[in-house]
Amino acid sequence: MERRTFWVDTDMLSWLMTKINQLAKRARKLGLQPPVLTVSDEERLEDVTQFTKIEPGEPYHEQVIQIRKRRATLEGEWPQLSGQDNQQWLALAKIEHEKDPEGQPVNLVKPFGTQGEERLEQLGLDLHQQKPNCEHCSTLRNRKTTYLLQDINSGEAKQIGSTCVDDFIAPGSLNKLALMADTQALFLDLSKMDDPGYEPTQRAARYVDTKLLLAIASLETERNGFHKSASRTPTKLAVLNEIQSPSKPVAELMQAHHRGEAHPHLSNAEAVIAHYRSSDSTNNFVANARSLASVAAIDLNDRNHNFQVGLLASLPSCYQRDMEKQKEQALDAATLLNEHYGELKQRGRLALKLTKSRLHNFHDGDKLRLTFRDSGGRTFEWLTTPSSAPDLEVGKHYHLTGTLAHHKEYKGTKFTAINRCKDFEEVPEDTPNPEFLIKKGKKARQAQAELGR
Ligand SMILES: [Zn+2]
Repeated sequence: MERRTFWVDTDMLSWLMTKINQLAKRARKLGLQPPVLTVSDEERLEDVTQFTKIEPGEPYHEQVIQIRKRRATLEGEWPQLSGQDNQQWLALAKIEHEKDPEGQPVNLVKPFGTQGEERLEQLGLDLHQQKPNCEHCSTLRNRKTTYLLQDINSGEAKQIGSTCVDDFIAPGSLNKLALMADTQALFLDLSKMDDPGYEPTQRAARYVDTKLLLAIASLETERNGFHKSASRTPTKLAVLNEIQSPSKPVAELMQAHHRGEAHPHLSNAEAVIAHYRSSDSTNNFVANARSLASVAAIDLNDRNHNFQVGLLASLPSCYQRDMEKQKEQALDAATLLNEHYGELKQRGRLALKLTKSRLHNFHDGDKLRLTFRDSGGRTFEWLTTPSSAPDLEVGKHYHLTGTLAHHKEYKGTKFTAINRCKDFEEVPEDTPNPEFLIKKGKKARQAQAELGR
């Protein structure tokens, strides 16, 4: 039994009663306890911010209206389903299977009440990324809906395709599950109406400026980091929630935008827009970003809004990463000394900073390509097998013994390939460089003098 109390918009009460009567009728037909809604006389007024319809490209309008609400209680039950051999099944969740643009599962998971939520938590399954499998027939199909069921006695959970449910449990089970899903949807509708940002009539187009949306995403990313659509707390959802019922910092941001005042996250949004609008990359993601950054506003009631908001929400963090990369590359180019080091075959002690570590799959096996820099800015490279490579960390400084094997050039950058590297010693950055040549003959001393540093 689930019992929850909500504040319900009085304009919605007649719609709600019709809905309850339909569910009750279906429940009685199936021999189940019908859900019960009790509306009390207790009333209150609530301020709600509404975004009203505007033309694309114009700033949105916000307006505060008052909504009259009444306290109501909804009670419903999540029945056990009796199967063969006295098995009793509890339905934990309905899974609606969807994919993101890359084809990865991003399912909508609808747990049945707090009981379903708690048991799912205990099982620790990530149903958002679950494939649409059926553990009854085990055939691979592109199912739209599956249910997660739990055997009460053994605690074992099974994912069953909706069309197999009757065969798996007993005839009539799918109808019961569908009723439970609709009851659950009503619980959700009621909690949405209870939300102070709820809008009763949101069918019309609802435009939000792209710049404002990016600024909210920028603020949200700064506050909580960026989280992908498939994660438990996606940034996209946080942004949509902030638009619906803004927290204090977002409300201030919206006000600044509305009044044309300066705000750090609005400036950041402008930089993001300029960056992607001027990008000429053919990468699919960047191409989508470019076209979205070029529209003035997006419609939150458009059926593609999920994809659009998801992509826009990721741009502030992608932009930041791009900027860091550019800075790194500029710094790298500024300190580069484009020349080879020493004479080939010379072996000695080198002082190098590891700048890059990359694994390559060559036809004769995996190779690890380690790129180094010396204090003069020259580039070194050591190609080795992953299994024999010492445990080195990018950004750290090392003293090591190696042989100068080749003088090479790649895309205009000269580098010295080294091999037979050993005796690695991690050292602090300001450690004086060791003398390169180990042999102490006259020839060696001469060579050392010529090398200089
Ligand atoms: Zn099946």
